[in-house]
Amino acid sequence: MTVRNLVVVLGDQLDLDSAAFDGFEPGRDRVWMCEAPAESRYVWTHQARIAIFLAAMRHFRVALEARGWRVDYQASGAHPHTTLAEALSAAVAALQPQQLVWVEAGEWRLARDLEQVAASVGLPFDVRADRHFLCSRDDFDSWMRGRTHPRLEHFYRWMRGRSGLLISADGQPEGGQWNYDSDNRRSFGAQGPGFVPQTRRFEPDAITRDVLALVEAQYPDHPGSLAGFDWPLTREQARVALADFVEHRLADFGPYQDAMWDREPLLWHSRLSAAMNLKLLSPREVIDAAVAALHARQAPLASVEGFVRQIVGWREYVRGLYWHHMPQYLDDNALGAHEPLPPFYWNGKTEMRCLRITIEDTLANGYAHHIQRLMITGLFALLLGVDPRQVHEWYLAVYVDAVEWVELPNSIGMSQHADGGLMGSKPYIASGKYIAKMSNYCSGCRYDPALSTGPKACPFTTLYWDFLARHRQRFAAHPRLVMQVRNLDRMQPEAVSAIRAEAELLRQRLRA
Ligand code: FAD
Ligand code: SF4
Repeated sequence: MTVRNLVVVLGDQLDLDSAAFDGFEPGRDRVWMCEAPAESRYVWTHQARIAIFLAAMRHFRVALEARGWRVDYQASGAHPHTTLAEALSAAVAALQPQQLVWVEAGEWRLARDLEQVAASVGLPFDVRADRHFLCSRDDFDSWMRGRTHPRLEHFYRWMRGRSGLLISADGQPEGGQWNYDSDNRRSFGAQGPGFVPQTRRFEPDAITRDVLALVEAQYPDHPGSLAGFDWPLTREQARVALADFVEHRLADFGPYQDAMWDREPLLWHSRLSAAMNLKLLSPREVIDAAVAALHARQAPLASVEGFVRQIVGWREYVRGLYWHHMPQYLDDNALGAHEPLPPFYWNGKTEMRCLRITIEDTLANGYAHHIQRLMITGLFALLLGVDPRQVHEWYLAVYVDAVEWVELPNSIGMSQHADGGLMGSKPYIASGKYIAKMSNYCSGCRYDPALSTGPKACPFTTLYWDFLARHRQRFAAHPRLVMQVRNLDRMQPEAVSAIRAEAELLRQRLRA
């Protein structure tokens, strides 16, 4: 049989309603999917991240075949190719399709590779827009036109306005405010979070167990653990996970968004990023479920708005910025940071308790919540002055939800300020005192967050002052950092010199 369209489905495109399948004729077209080892190796990928992609892909294949569609599925170990490009070239040679079809890839590198394959085999190709997102790449570029300093807040209001989401009949935001951030920055206090609902687990089925065994056999030296692997891997499971979040955690999502507590890696976060990034869930249905809970009085506006902002705002915003700024984004290093990533990022072996807990959570679960990523691992790398490319590669490797379009602007932009302020107007910097306020990590740590020099000095606090001193020129006039710079200027010069010497010793120790 002659194949008309060979429809390429990538590992993060597991959506039965995808534009890739528009006009699909089972008698004439064929789906092509491939587990390419290079995709698991181009960064030193956490075992759970490899497993979630492969297991979700294999379940998606079953869903496609249940429709009676033919899937040319290249399973790991059953084909000789390393890269997707090699495997696709071989498939084209074998199947001789008339055309290649795919939905725009989420990653710049893969978008380039697919077009190169099509060009090298001389086939026409049809790249279709990704309907998963609420803002198309063209719409984002129009919004960006003329803006040198794009800001999330402006984008978010524009998105709310044009969709009517949480907008009252008079055109004003529901509740009268665009955001409830001031209600949403609570910490727990000494008593801790109290009762935290357990998240819904999904026991591995036979397909997943095969994948877990494969990952253990083929990637034994990769970081992380598969022991508690319980992620939703099908659309049905993802919908159960969404319902579970809305019923049990959404109401308290808002107030404690920024809080951290040891042995509570999830708190009231949704744990839905991986299912959304694999496209098992659409952002629309996630938001609709949250807004329905608001209207049914099951969750307060501050929590629902806070949650909606993450998805309609941040998630769409970083995707737009990624495509707008690639491939330059990969090389951004506005603060001239060149330190190597400390080895403890890969094993958690450090006496800094906040980092140890966050990295141990990450290695155990392939998950850490946003504030752990931004204000623990990200903050330390920023203050230390780690090469942003190495920071990016770590974040891309260790989280099950990591796909470059969302990970890279968050790492290089939001957390390392290496894009010079494209993503956020100022670097997210803080001393150990912020961590002491927002978590219980400092109790039981051998360091003291209030100290910047001496044997008990908290490395975050030392490096915080050192960062301000190193970048004083750059940030002295910044309206949102001026107070912090003024505090630095109030210090005695000898005290600043002592901090800077201590920071340098710390860097030397961490390089060793
Ligand atoms: P919740 O806290 O429940 O938030 C709800 C949803 O909002 C998330 O599922 C996610 O889809 C979206 N969201 C929240 N914050 C952001 C954000 N800053 N950017 C984009 N979407 C957001 N998110 C990823 O999906 N993949 C990544 O690889 C990734 N890497 C990150 C790296 C760094 C350095 C930082 C600071 C953040 C990163 N994030 C990434 C964003 C955010 O931390 C995760 O989306 C979130 O922690 C996922 O957990 P959750 O589903 O429980 O989120
Ligand atoms: Fe982290 Fe410093 Fe607190 Fe220790 S004292 S947990 S290193 S912030």
